[in-house]
This record gives sequence, C-alpha cells and structure tokens, in this order.
Amino acid sequence: MEQTVMKETATLPMLALRGMVVFPNTLIHFDVVREKSLLALENAMVNKQLIFVSMQTDPTIENPKPADIENVGTICKISQVVKMPNNTVRVLVEGLKRAKIYDVARVKPYFVAVVDEVEKDDYDDTTIESEALRRKLVDEFMNYCDYNNRVNSDFVVSLENVEDTARLADSIASNMPLKLLDKQKILNIESTKERAETLLELLIREIQIAEVDTNIDRKVKKNIDKNQREYFLREQLKVIHEELGDDSEFEVEEYKSKLKKLDLPQNVVEKCEKELARLSKMSVNNPDANVIRTYLEWICDLPWNNFTKDTLEISNAKEVLDRDHYGLKEVKERIMEYLAVKKITSSMAGPILCLVGPPGVGKTSIAKSIAESMGRSYARISLGGIRDEADIRGHRRTYIGSMPGRIITALKQAGTNNPLMLFDEIDKMASDYRGDPAAALLEVLDSEQNTKFRDHFMEVDFDLSNVLFIATANTLDTIPRPLLDRMEIIEIPGYTSEEKFQIAKNHLLSKQLKNHGLTKKQVSVSDTAIKGIIAHYTKEAGVRALERKIANVLRKSALKIVDAPETQVKITGKNLEEFLGKEIFSDEFASKKDEVGVVCGLAWTQVGGDTLSIEVNVMDGTGNLELTGQLGDVMKESAKAAVSYVRSESDKLGIDSEFYKKYDIHIHVPEGATPKDGPSAGITIATALVSALSQRAVNHKVAMTGEITIRGRVLPIGGLREKTLAAYQAGIKTVVIPFENKKDIDELENVVKENIDIIPARNMNDVLKVALV
Ligand code: ADP
Repeated sequence: MEQTVMKETATLPMLALRGMVVFPNTLIHFDVVREKSLLALENAMVNKQLIFVSMQTDPTIENPKPADIENVGTICKISQVVKMPNNTVRVLVEGLKRAKIYDVARVKPYFVAVVDEVEKDDYDDTTIESEALRRKLVDEFMNYCDYNNRVNSDFVVSLENVEDTARLADSIASNMPLKLLDKQKILNIESTKERAETLLELLIREIQIAEVDTNIDRKVKKNIDKNQREYFLREQLKVIHEELGDDSEFEVEEYKSKLKKLDLPQNVVEKCEKELARLSKMSVNNPDANVIRTYLEWICDLPWNNFTKDTLEISNAKEVLDRDHYGLKEVKERIMEYLAVKKITSSMAGPILCLVGPPGVGKTSIAKSIAESMGRSYARISLGGIRDEADIRGHRRTYIGSMPGRIITALKQAGTNNPLMLFDEIDKMASDYRGDPAAALLEVLDSEQNTKFRDHFMEVDFDLSNVLFIATANTLDTIPRPLLDRMEIIEIPGYTSEEKFQIAKNHLLSKQLKNHGLTKKQVSVSDTAIKGIIAHYTKEAGVRALERKIANVLRKSALKIVDAPETQVKITGKNLEEFLGKEIFSDEFASKKDEVGVVCGLAWTQVGGDTLSIEVNVMDGTGNLELTGQLGDVMKESAKAAVSYVRSESDKLGIDSEFYKKYDIHIHVPEGATPKDGPSAGITIATALVSALSQRAVNHKVAMTGEITIRGRVLPIGGLREKTLAAYQAGIKTVVIPFENKKDIDELENVVKENIDIIPARNMNDVLKVALV
C-alpha cells in the first residue's frame, strides 16, 4: 500500500449508518431515526455542519458500540435537514473526505470521534495508463448498466468527463448496487490505483452475474410465455365452442335434423346414423370428429334429390345453340336428335358425345350452350394431367386431408343430380402406379354401372345415370380403346377463313365488346379489318387467338375512348397495324414462284392441319445425306426411304444413277410453331429430291401428303380433313393424296371440295406427273 499522508485530525460528531456507505464527492440522503444520531446531527448543525459518518458492521444492532462501527468513514457536510412526520429527519449530506477513526472521544449522549483525514495519494491522473484505467472503468460500468437499468443514464454520461481517477472510482462505487461489504471494501482502500482496480474486478464480476441472470430470466420467461399462450388459446377455443353451441350433443342433433330434411336413400341414412353415433361419443377436440363432420357436410351438400326438368322444346334449343355458335352442325344436330328421342321415350340414357378437334373450335363453349339449351346445370371437370385414380374417385377417409373425387365435387358445384358434365381434355389423362383414372371414368360412363357410382370418400352409392356426359379431346390417339368405345365421336376439324370471319363478325366481336364495356357505336371493326386479323395475325385451326386479337384491338380502343370519351374508334384494314403492330403472317404460298427442290407438304398436328415447305439442296460432294430442321425420327426414316426410291428409279427419272456417290444431299424442314412428325411427308420429300436432282421446278400451287415406300408406292395417311383445310387456307389449288384415301374425299369441307383439285395417286409417278412443271 502506498504511503498515505495524514493531513489533519478532526474531532467531529459521528453517525453510525445502517445499510449504507457514503463516499467522498457524492451527494446522498438518508433518514435519521435514532435519538443518538439525531443528537449528533443537531450538534453538527451548530458546529460547521460537519459530521463523520461510518457504517455499522451489523445493521441489526440498535445501540452500537464503537467496536461495531467501521474504522473508515467519510467526513460529510450537511446540506439539508428536513423534519419528517413521526420524529424522523431526512438529511442530505455531501461526502467530503475519507477519514479513519483514531479514537472515539465520547459515546454519550452521542458519539464524538477523533478522525484522521486520509489525503489523496500522489497517483498521476495524466498518464496513459491512468486514462486507460478510467476508460475501462467507465466502459465496464456502462456495460453493467445495460443489464441493470436502475442507474440514471445522465449520471453515466457525466462520468466520461471525470479526469480524477479516485473521484471516478468513488462515484461509480457509490452508484452501484454493490453488496455493502464490497462498498466498504472500496472505501477502505487508500491507494487510488488499487481502489480503481478492485472496483473494476467487482464490476466485471457483477456483469458476469448479470449475464447469467438475464439468461435464466429469459428462459424462465419463455417457458411462462409459452405456457400462458397455450393456456389462453385453449381457453379461447373452449369459449368459441361454447358460443357456437357445438358441444357434441347439440351438434349431433343438428346434423340429424338437417339429414332428415334431405330425404336420403335408406343405405345413406344408415351410414349417416353410424357416423353420428361415433361423433356423439367423441370429445369436441378429437381430430377424428372433424373427419366425420367433413363427411356429413359432404352428404348434406350433395344433390340427392335436386334435379332440373329438361326443356325438350327443340325449336328453343336450336335457337340457343345457333345464337351462341356458328356452324358446328353435326354437334347441334346430334343434340336435336337426342332431344327428339327423349321427348318420345323419357327413359333413354343420354348419348356420351366426345367432341374431337383442335383447340379453340368451340368444344367447351358449345357444351356449355347445350346445357343452357336443355335447362341443365353445367359442371366441367378438367382431366388434363390427371394421373391418379383418386382424382376421379376420391381418397379413402383414412388418408389425412382426404376429399371426394372430381365427380362428386362437380355434382356438388352443379347442385343438381342431372347436370351436363363436361370431361375436358379426356385425351390428356395419364396413368401411373397410383391407379388408372381411365378405369374409373369407364365405370362412370357405363350406364350399367353408373347408377351405383361409389366414391372412396363418400362410401355410399350415388346415381349418375341422369347426368349427361360430354367429353372433349384434341386427338383420339391417346384415348384408351375401351373408353373410346363408350363414346360417340364427333369431329370438329377447324374453320376456314370464311367461317372464322363469320364467327368473328357474328359472335366474337359482340362478345368482346360486351366484355370490354363498349358499344358498336363507340368502336366499329370493318370486315376487311376482321379478315386482316384472320389472315395476318393468326394461324390456327380454331378461333382462340382470333378472339384474343379482337380483345387486343378493343383494349386499345378503350384506352382511346377513356382519353377522349366522344371519340368513335374505327378499325379498318388500313389502320389495323396501329392496333396490333406489324403483320405476323404473310400469305405464304400464294405469292411464291415455282422453284426447284421446294415442295409444299401437309401435316396434321393436335392443333390442326398445317402446311410445311420441304427443301432439298444438291451439291457436289461425296454422297452425304444431311437432314436438318425439324425432323422427328419417323420423318428421317421417310427421307431415307425417299432416297432409296430415287436411287432405284434414277434411270426412269432421268437422274444420274451415281448421284448418291457424287453429291451431297441436304434435306431441310423449316421449324414450325408446333413440332410435326409422321410418315406422311414421305412423298413430299421424294418429290423435292427428284426436283433437285433433275433440276425441274415444282408447281407452287400443288401440295401433297402421303407415305412412301422404297419402291415408290404411296400409302394412306390420316387427318385429311384438317390437312386439306390448311392447304385451302394457304391458297393451294391442287392436293395430291394417297389413292386409298379417296374414300375420305366425301367428308372434306365443302369449300375444299369446291376450290381444290384433289388428285389421288397410287405411286410416285402419279405424284410427279402433277407436281413437276
Ligand atoms: P375448345 O374447347 O375447342 O378449345 P373453346 O370452347 O374454348 O374451344 O372456344 C374458344 C372461343 O372461341 C370461345 O370463346 C368460343 O365461344 C369461341 N368459338 C369457337 N367456335 C365458335 C363458333 N363456332 N361460334 C362461335 N364462337 C365460337
């Protein structure tokens, strides 16, 4: 310990403090109660207001002896004395100096002590070390305060400016809620350095304790919070249940009366009774109860006895169908026939129609019109991408989150048990390990079985025999045979430009005007404009894109009208570009010339017929055959067969018989919007090849389709209706078809038959005769 300098000795009244330590340079107040202390205070007030205060070692002692008082205390100046009720006095003192008791001069009536003032040691506050020590003290104290917000923040800030280490240490010690013994310990230390360091140690320890403390706090709090939350939620749930009155007894009664009103079939009633008996035994919160509730709701929601009466008035039905749709004669006629027969024998099972055709030809929308024309409700089930039997027939209730299948769901939506149910995209259904949805459909469509359709979820039979089923598909290829056998196929091949024009003019335009909130007065679309849209902005078998383009035009018009409400927007062939941008399609073949090595082929895809131009180039080389562009495997085979044919017939064709060694042959099929493959490009490739090798041009108004054999025979193909339609659209005048397809000519569209020369060909000679100029 450093040498302390005793400056002065003083004789002063002494106050024994209980439970507190007063440090120099601090202001502090306390209450004085004891007689002895009050006397000491009184004496001090008349004597320079100085008093020596020191702590009792044991605060419980009422009448301390000198030995019970700590040796080191503080000389204080009394700043304020306030008399309080019940004989206590509140004193405000300012600590001045440390002092040690040298002797106790008097004990009665109050203590008088002789004390030695402890002078400040010669610790140098200007060194770097001392600055560091002070900063450390302040930092740690701030740290401590973060945990303990009992300390006044202004005070903490003021500490940063204190340059006197001793004073700083005293201030901090005084303001920290330290243990009394620790405080006294700090007071006892005379060396500034040692005092500051001891304080620092204490501070760090306190921080650690505080850290542990908050952790414990947090954990405890979290636990309590969680428990409380759960408790509250449970209580709320209880109240909700009470409010809703769904204690199980009440609930069961309610279901019973609801079910009674439905007049259910006997077996369903029995099933429901069983379920209700189970429900009544369950507690409100049992998760199984919810499964039963869902089940009963479904039973209640199904149209067991709801049905609509068919309007069998044929003239009326015809009116509705014609109002909404142009053409589609075959479909409309079939429906009239059905209605007529139904009028005679009411018990007839409905036909199951399957409308097959490219997208946008109105399959879905005519189905909706049929429902309307008969006064039935309408329910659509989209089958595209369905690969799970449960999608059709539901999941058993043992599955979590199980639901009825689409048939039952559709019935619920329809609200009647005899709706028109549309199976959309029946050709896009797949099957995998989860069971075959087609098998489930088969049962639904079978009039022998569908009186007792059983959904896995419902577990009771539902009679589907009154439902009128209609299916749609783009192609028949992917529909399973047994399913196909159940249905009556009606093909809708796609529309000619004229038909599209009629549809647009009479249906789409007015429909879209209405959709956009416009009137014919506000926007007029001229015939040439409609024709322009059809020819230059769409290329499709149906009218979906056409309808979209019309909507585009109307949107743009609406914009103009909003800007200037009085405007009349006139759309003509001339200003069409303003609305739709640059033309997308130009008249493909019509403007072309006869060329060598370029032949127009015809293809069929799921979105309708299409033309494709096949190009062949012959160059000096070593006999390589190169195939580029969009060729599928089948088309590649066709190309090879074509080459083979040309080789075997080279003499007759006037072609150098060594061509396959001397030249490189390049066959190219330009990419189209939809990929095409199939053998029907065979004769087209062969023609292009012969043309290129013999340098004879091909008539550009001729198109063709047909499979080729290596001997040059022409084999039949499918999709003739769509293909010839596409040819007609492209301005073709002559179409070469396989001889065996001659029987299909009758079924071709009238415009096609009227405008196109159809030439059946048995072999390549027949083809080349027509094609080469
Ligand atoms: P699909 O089901 O064959 O793909 P949609 O039924 O969706 O075709 O028809 C597309 C749009 O074209 C619908 O707005 C429909 O009303 C219209 N549409 C198609 N064909 C006709 C038609 N013959 N007469 C009137 N509108 C038609």
